[in-house]
Amino acid sequence: MSVQKVDVLVIGGGIVGACVARELQTSGRQVTLVERGQPGQACSFANAGWLTPCFAMPLPQPGMFWKSIGWLFDPTSPLHIQPNLSPTLVRWMWLFLRAMNREQMEKSVSILTKISSFSLDFYRELGARSKRPIGFENRGLLMVSGTAAGLDYATIEMQLMKERGIDGRLMKQDEALNFEPALRPIVRGGVYFPGEAQADPYATTLAVMDEFTAAGGVSHANAEAYQFEIENGRIRRVLTTRGVFEADLVVLATGAWSKDVAKELKLNIPILGGKGYSMSVDMPEGADSGVDSDFRKPKVPIMIVEKKIAVTPFQNHVRLAGTLELVDQDFSISSRRLQGVHSGAREYLKFDSDFSEARDIWRGLRPCTPDGVPIIGPSTRVSNLFYCAGHQLLGFQSAPGSARLAADLILGRSPLVDPKGFQADRFE
Ligand SMILES: Cc1cc2nc3c(=O)[nH]c(=O)nc-3n(C[C@H](O)[C@H](O)[C@H](O)COP(=O)(O)OP(=O)(O)OC[C@H]3O[C@@H](n4cnc5c(N)ncnc54)[C@H](O)[C@@H]3O)c2cc1C
Repeated sequence: MSVQKVDVLVIGGGIVGACVARELQTSGRQVTLVERGQPGQACSFANAGWLTPCFAMPLPQPGMFWKSIGWLFDPTSPLHIQPNLSPTLVRWMWLFLRAMNREQMEKSVSILTKISSFSLDFYRELGARSKRPIGFENRGLLMVSGTAAGLDYATIEMQLMKERGIDGRLMKQDEALNFEPALRPIVRGGVYFPGEAQADPYATTLAVMDEFTAAGGVSHANAEAYQFEIENGRIRRVLTTRGVFEADLVVLATGAWSKDVAKELKLNIPILGGKGYSMSVDMPEGADSGVDSDFRKPKVPIMIVEKKIAVTPFQNHVRLAGTLELVDQDFSISSRRLQGVHSGAREYLKFDSDFSEARDIWRGLRPCTPDGVPIIGPSTRVSNLFYCAGHQLLGFQSAPGSARLAADLILGRSPLVDPKGFQADRFE
């Protein structure tokens, strides 16, 4: 098999790999990207499409200890951890519990908000210049709740975000119901963040790939990296199903598969899959204006706090997304969980179709690190390996910012944010 010598090899063509490849290519490096399937068709395909810096909370939060123990035993909870005694899960849980403190959370929120805000600006400009429509819309985000505890949670988030320059305003029940006529009166109030946006995640990933290849980058689909040859502490060769590559630098952007790819390199990085589902509910004509009393299409993206369900209005349909089930490469579909997302949303929103009418059912594995912060930085063990993976619930909204930080570090530029919290050596 012939060996191709390349400058930078990016492994993984999700939104993160696409953004890193584009950023490095447009900054003067020569990049080749290898993707096991087709770009953008894994976790970046049908997520909720939120570009919401206000929603930059890491998964572990203070006060969650007992809750997370409960999730081990409650298969119906919106966040569920499949109980097993695998060393991977035990290590992940230990690191997760350790990250549940206020100091760590505040630090994480600050850096995640910064990379998400950078990304929001990037997508706004991409939407304006790309020939491929990406569905960028700046409608804001409404967090709603039917419980006092949920409203408290939304208020705390609003305050945390205000300190970081992101505006939100509290709405009492009447105001929330007037503002968003799609809500049912179960809603007791909420918080509206006006600066937030949405886009179609798959079209956006392809638009980023368009810019990457237009700048001279090379992309190989159906090219799975399956083996690494190591020599003197560096990757000498990457064997893929589409040929062998020798690269000066290898960037790992393999999302929820990163743990297994890293294992090939004898590295132990704790990224597990956070399985979530989405589906589309069609909205009939007239659902925008309220002519049809059974259906009302939301004007804005909505987060139902206590159900952890995300609702995103698209042109003729609404996408419902939810659940986080911590798994290790388990792609099975649970109809109980799917139906839970559908019925949970229907409790809060005016649509009267059955679950059987939902279409485009999809599941994705969010790449979850135990502290909720992606790994962006050089490996401390393999000299020409760089990580950009583990973007948990926020990979779409934070990919361009992560890519900028990655490129800053690779090219020796002044970094977009303090890279300390992202370093690989916290886990390697
Ligand atoms: C239900 C749901 C809703 C969500 N909603 C949002 C949202 O509204 N906003 C948001 O910001 N985030 C959201 N997310 C999270 C977001 O989807 C992820 O964080 C993001 O897609 C991760 O991107 P990625 O590029 O790291 O991973 P992926 O998109 O999964 O890409 C990784 C790629 O690596 C490839 N790969 C793996 N192994 C190899 C190999 N050996 N060789 C070559 N290629 C390989 C895979 O095929 C894949 O294409 C949601 C996720 C889910 C499940």
